[in-house]
Amino acid sequence: MPPRPGPAYPQKFPLLRLFTVAPSASLEAAPGRPISDRARERQNAMALNEYRKKRRFSVTPEPSGKASATGKPKAPALKFVIQKHRASHLHYDFRLEWKGVLLSWAVPKGPSLDPAVKRLAMQVEDHPIEYAGFEGVIPEGEYGGGAVMVWDEGTWECEQPSVDAALAKGDLKFTLHGKKLTGSWALVRTHGYGGHGGYRSYSGGGAKPSWLLIKHRDEYASADDIAALKPFSAVSGRLLADIARENGGNVEKAATGDPTATDLPAKATAKRSNRTKSKPRPRARRSRK
Ligand code: MN
Repeated sequence: MPPRPGPAYPQKFPLLRLFTVAPSASLEAAPGRPISDRARERQNAMALNEYRKKRRFSVTPEPSGKASATGKPKAPALKFVIQKHRASHLHYDFRLEWKGVLLSWAVPKGPSLDPAVKRLAMQVEDHPIEYAGFEGVIPEGEYGGGAVMVWDEGTWECEQPSVDAALAKGDLKFTLHGKKLTGSWALVRTHGYGGHGGYRSYSGGGAKPSWLLIKHRDEYASADDIAALKPFSAVSGRLLADIARENGGNVEKAATGDPTATDLPAKATAKRSNRTKSKPRPRARRSRK
């Protein structure tokens, strides 16, 4: 028997159609209203339906955005980035993706691979995820004016059951999978200036929470001065001065964040000229305060 042509809902009963449509529409939150995490997950899953329908993931290399084959929803890898930033002062912006933003800390001296060295990390405002790809020049006179380099990038994993609980407690333990930094690290909130009041207490101006960035003891710990040994961009191989020069920035100022020509590390130079990896030359252990 051939299927009967016609509308899904008999025109005779327009009310039936209304009743069928209304309940699903009511599931969506009103514009501007906050929605729960679960509701957002559902929305995101729905939003990818059309994307998935158009693609055969057995053929295309594009990501399916789907839960893992085990059926367990697998959390997507969280990004991390460290941007070397020659603003009014040279610093390294350490950023961890969490809940759709990049949690951010300004680390004046940059990370250290030595577990005995605790590096001050001042929490700053959350940045958008897209900021992780930013390498260029912020115009002088603007907020943070100066050259910005993607010094390292990769993914991170929390070593604790709850990121939110760890942040609230001020003791985040995590593993980095970067091009320069790997292994286990910690961010520990200090009890000094701005150290109280939750990890987002910087809002409202004034005191920003101070944390310490510390390398845990593992096979990736080392006395090497990673910032000096690897001064080049993780995405373009450039120095800060190169970035400034190519983006109309202040080259002289940017260059003060780079090693001097005589101090350029052998390993980085080797990498630039595409030679095979050589062991970094040993460096004298820095004396500590
Ligand atoms: Mn910065």
